[in-house]
Amino acid sequence: MATRSVKDLKFRGKRVLVRVDFNVPLAGNEIMDDRRLAAALPTIQHILKGGGLPVLMSHLGRPAGNGPEAAFSLQPVAVRLQAMLGEQHKVHFVDGACEGAAAEAAIAGAGAGDVVLLDNLRFHAGEKKNDQALSAAIASLADVYVDDAFGTAHRDHASMVGVPDAMRDRPRVAGLLLDREIHFLARVLDDPQRPFIAILGGAKVSDKLAAIRNLLPKVDVILVGGAMAYTFMAARGDSVGDSLVEEGMMDMARELMSLAEGASTELLLPTDHRCAESIGVDVPVRTCEIGIPTGWMGLDIGPETLADWTRRILDAKTVVWNGPVGVFEQPPFDEGTVGLAHALAKSTRKHRAVTIVGGGETAAAVERAGVSSEISHISTGGGASLRMLEGAELPALGSLEAV
Ligand code: AMP
Repeated sequence: MATRSVKDLKFRGKRVLVRVDFNVPLAGNEIMDDRRLAAALPTIQHILKGGGLPVLMSHLGRPAGNGPEAAFSLQPVAVRLQAMLGEQHKVHFVDGACEGAAAEAAIAGAGAGDVVLLDNLRFHAGEKKNDQALSAAIASLADVYVDDAFGTAHRDHASMVGVPDAMRDRPRVAGLLLDREIHFLARVLDDPQRPFIAILGGAKVSDKLAAIRNLLPKVDVILVGGAMAYTFMAARGDSVGDSLVEEGMMDMARELMSLAEGASTELLLPTDHRCAESIGVDVPVRTCEIGIPTGWMGLDIGPETLADWTRRILDAKTVVWNGPVGVFEQPPFDEGTVGLAHALAKSTRKHRAVTIVGGGETAAAVERAGVSSEISHISTGGGASLRMLEGAELPALGSLEAV
């Protein structure tokens, strides 16, 4: 998969619609975390430098979809964006509308170096329904379409699909953020340096099934951790005590293990576990090897598994990771996940491995380990990155121009 990007275009004198992800956490009018705004700046500045007028559009939260609601206005975003861009770039906020006369007037009134910010797309019911009339109205505002919102790229909403489809006669390209996601989650995974390892964790086999199936023939080793591992272990006849098991997925787990064998991919389960009788602070914790006793639950990979998986990660040239390998929210069951985060960081630092982390929980764990800056790529989209690991075509990407 390869799409054209903003790097391939000239912007002088062009009105450029940019789908950004400004869905920031708010407490009243206050933005609690502005990293999504900061992440969009390179694309905005790239367009400004090229002499274009960025017309930014995003959703924010979950308004009802029948008109403007003060609690979901992008006004606080406009204020913060203005502060980030500085006085030389005026932000024109289109209060309460993402199309129509107010948007047209703001665009017509914007001078060189200015930015226009449309209000919450989801004030219209048509956004989530990929409505044609809304798409056409937004599309009429600009000469170029840019998608830089990876977090919503797996949804077929108007701003991601209908608008670019209505602009088939104009350039439709990926922004710098989206281009980076496509680079790591499509190009690198399709043509990886080997050895190539995938680590999959988290609560449920059912959530990761399609990703495992897609990755099995591509990777050399697949490390399965988290609660998911216990369904695989139960399926091959190990005693797993009271660990979380998806009974309905045992046949599927067996099928995946035999698929791995057929593909000559090593599918590895933990060989030891950190176990407790319940999840809580100060509960007694013990390390169990194969055979977790009744009454005990496996809540993290054990030290022997962590050491073995770390060795493998340090030998790898490409590592992709989605899902924590333990109940990382509750120390000491974060040790396996934090340990793997350090292993990925070291592998990148010392051996120039390409390391890719996807999923909100895994990204949070890597951040907690303090090694975010040492990972090659941390995906900004949980759902969308899992869809890419599944090998699915994301609707939004299909609407951009292929190279
Ligand atoms: P997911 O959203 O599927 O990536 O799952 C993440 C959740 O899986 C986290 O909240 C973890 O606490 C949970 N998890 C990971 N390992 C285990 C385990 N061994 N037992 C129970 N829950 C787990």
